[in-house]
Amino acid sequence: MRIPVIAGNWKLFKTIGESVAMVQELKSLVANNQGVEIVVAPVFTALSRVNDVLQGSNVMLAAQDCYWEEEGAFTGEVAPALLKDAGCSHVIIGHSERRQYFGETDVTVNKKTRAAIAAGLCAIVCVGESLAERESEQTFSVIETQIQGGLAGITADAAPHIVIAYEPVWAIGTGKTATDAQAQEVHTFIRQLIAKTFNQPVADAMRILYGGSVKPDNVKGLMAQPDIDGALVGGASLKADSFAAIASFNA
Ligand code: PEP
Repeated sequence: MRIPVIAGNWKLFKTIGESVAMVQELKSLVANNQGVEIVVAPVFTALSRVNDVLQGSNVMLAAQDCYWEEEGAFTGEVAPALLKDAGCSHVIIGHSERRQYFGETDVTVNKKTRAAIAAGLCAIVCVGESLAERESEQTFSVIETQIQGGLAGITADAAPHIVIAYEPVWAIGTGKTATDAQAQEVHTFIRQLIAKTFNQPVADAMRILYGGSVKPDNVKGLMAQPDIDGALVGGASLKADSFAAIASFNA
């Protein structure tokens, strides 16, 4: 009932030429993939050119961040409508690297999420606890605060335009994946929170992705969990063959 999403976050990697070459290879590798939404998130400068290459393919385009204002004196920022204009259907919001290095908070995540939805984008909203928080048994309270703050004031009719990505910070780029059971436990908790925030049908329909060192060899186990509806992939999304293998988890 929930169509899985496999999204690749390219972070600050690849020139325009490298991005175009990668999606040319990727789109033919996944041309016959069915029952999965495949999304790539290149750097801003490559979006429009990558969009040209993706025309007619089953690969969708995401940005890695956005601002919440439509236009104005906000030097350096990019509005959701401009991402749409560049061909994006999705935008990643609140990635832990933005929270850690660029002062992203639940308040700004909320503003960006509302603005993205208003512009017709699907918001991939990231949450996740640090290692210290997990070790001090604060995982659930951290996730609850991030979900409540990030989704504050958003109505149930907007919820289909949201995908949650659970990314334990200690598993991002470290090679340490949460076990299938650890991930499932938090995904169940998030789905319960979504039911409390909106209602049960919204929770049943919400895609909740796992992120943190997802690779071709661990994706199947994760995807076999009942509440894991896809993956947000960093490192392993940078090569067409490994990302295509992950996007073929159901083949
Ligand atoms: C990410 O950047 O969202 C991520 C999960 O990275 P990695 O797969 O490299 O851990």
